[in-house]
Amino acid sequence: MANEHPSVRARTAPDRPRRRDIVITALLGLMVLLVLLIGGVLEPGAWLAASLAFSALAFIYFLTAVTRGAPRPSAQITRPVVSSELESANAMLEKIAVPVLLIGPGGRIERANPAARAFLALGAEGGLLSTSLRQPRVLEAVSAALRGERGTVVEYASLAPIESHVRAFVEPLRMPVAGPMPWRAMLVLADETSSKRAERMRADFLANASHELRTPLASLSGFIDTLRGPARDDEEARDRFLTIMREQTDRMRRLIDDLLSLSRVEMNEHLPPSGEADLAAIARDVVDSLRPMADARAITFELSLPDAPARITGDRDQVYEVVENLVENAIKYSPEGAIVAIEALDNCTRDIAEHAPERLAPQSARLLLAGPPFDPRQRYGVLRVRDNGAGIDRRYLPRLSERFYRVDGQKSGPTAGTGLGLAIVKHIITRHRGGFSVESATGTGSAFSVFLPKPVPDADAAARVLADTASGVDAG
Ligand code: ADP
Repeated sequence: MANEHPSVRARTAPDRPRRRDIVITALLGLMVLLVLLIGGVLEPGAWLAASLAFSALAFIYFLTAVTRGAPRPSAQITRPVVSSELESANAMLEKIAVPVLLIGPGGRIERANPAARAFLALGAEGGLLSTSLRQPRVLEAVSAALRGERGTVVEYASLAPIESHVRAFVEPLRMPVAGPMPWRAMLVLADETSSKRAERMRADFLANASHELRTPLASLSGFIDTLRGPARDDEEARDRFLTIMREQTDRMRRLIDDLLSLSRVEMNEHLPPSGEADLAAIARDVVDSLRPMADARAITFELSLPDAPARITGDRDQVYEVVENLVENAIKYSPEGAIVAIEALDNCTRDIAEHAPERLAPQSARLLLAGPPFDPRQRYGVLRVRDNGAGIDRRYLPRLSERFYRVDGQKSGPTAGTGLGLAIVKHIITRHRGGFSVESATGTGSAFSVFLPKPVPDADAAARVLADTASGVDAG
């Protein structure tokens, strides 16, 4: 990227012809003197005349040499303008938030602005475009542009690790370089994931909301008809029906809240959070807020949380929602008087066996519902919620994080679920580039674990500490 453009480089050596001409002038003078000496022309008159002639000749030659060697006035004006234009174009390219790349012969990345380097996770060396962007249609369009053919627009979608939709603009550029390959391809990548998601979310939300709300609404209108007709004077039936109607309206409210929450999470799932949160503190807050619900069913919490903060990279409110959903489920799906254990661990790897070495039961099944991207250096904060409920049969485990999925015939205390809680958990965890796993054994209970990435240590701070230590500065 730091390479100077050839058109600028060609103008940086203007003084060479001028120096050459002065040397020729001096040599010419010496030759004339030599001829005078050899010819024995040493009388003062002749010597003076020859010297004058030589001086005049040399002066005229010097003047013509200087004029010929000096850069033309127009070039003097053009040079700073061209280089400042290039500089401002470069500065703009560096700052622009849209990924822009210049691809050279053989598909090699010649330039990539910071947005492109971040988008394609490029290292310091650009390398080949085909190793960073495995989209055959984009690569074909780039090859065509490198042959000088017309530019094209290619749309592509990738599903892993996170769903994304991109529109790639490919344009050929003819560079002012000599040689058989003057063409370059300019590649601009427009990320359209947000708008595509918003479009789909809207359609999904309408379909789900209308479908799920239809049943409680139908039941409500049925009860209203009964209360106005046959049960008009039956006081006992009226009370019973009003209680059911209250439950139905509560369920409708929960459904709307969960659907809105799911839509919000899905909308920004492709944008990882940048804040920090303390997993242990969140667990404490959730336990405090759900204590009345647990008390109502005589459920006891067993907490195992580190005293020091368990720092993770995350959106505090979303992580709170994750923990709240898991603890709420543990309360809902446990019998009265049961124990719910909540455990937080710091600095773990992504290996479930490490943070949960003991199985709930010999026959229990474990499943990863969402896995973090593979990075052996990444460490995680882990939160595990364990209950002694009825457990979930292993054949249902893969479906747990589907929207509206509820295990058949399962009792959930007084509040019926919406089937959206675990779908919300999975989407939040995926957004955080974390992991979500379940272990369950029928008759023994279930344990749900989430692991969230810890902040990457600041490499610059570490380097600074090392430098201070080496120079004997007390870091305090
Ligand atoms: P819901 O609102 O129905 O609880 P979730 O998405 O939270 O929805 O859970 C989906 C289904 O998974 C539940 O309906 C229930 O059948 C099952 N489930 C979730 N957590 C537990 C648990 N701790 N123990 C047993 N079953 C559970």
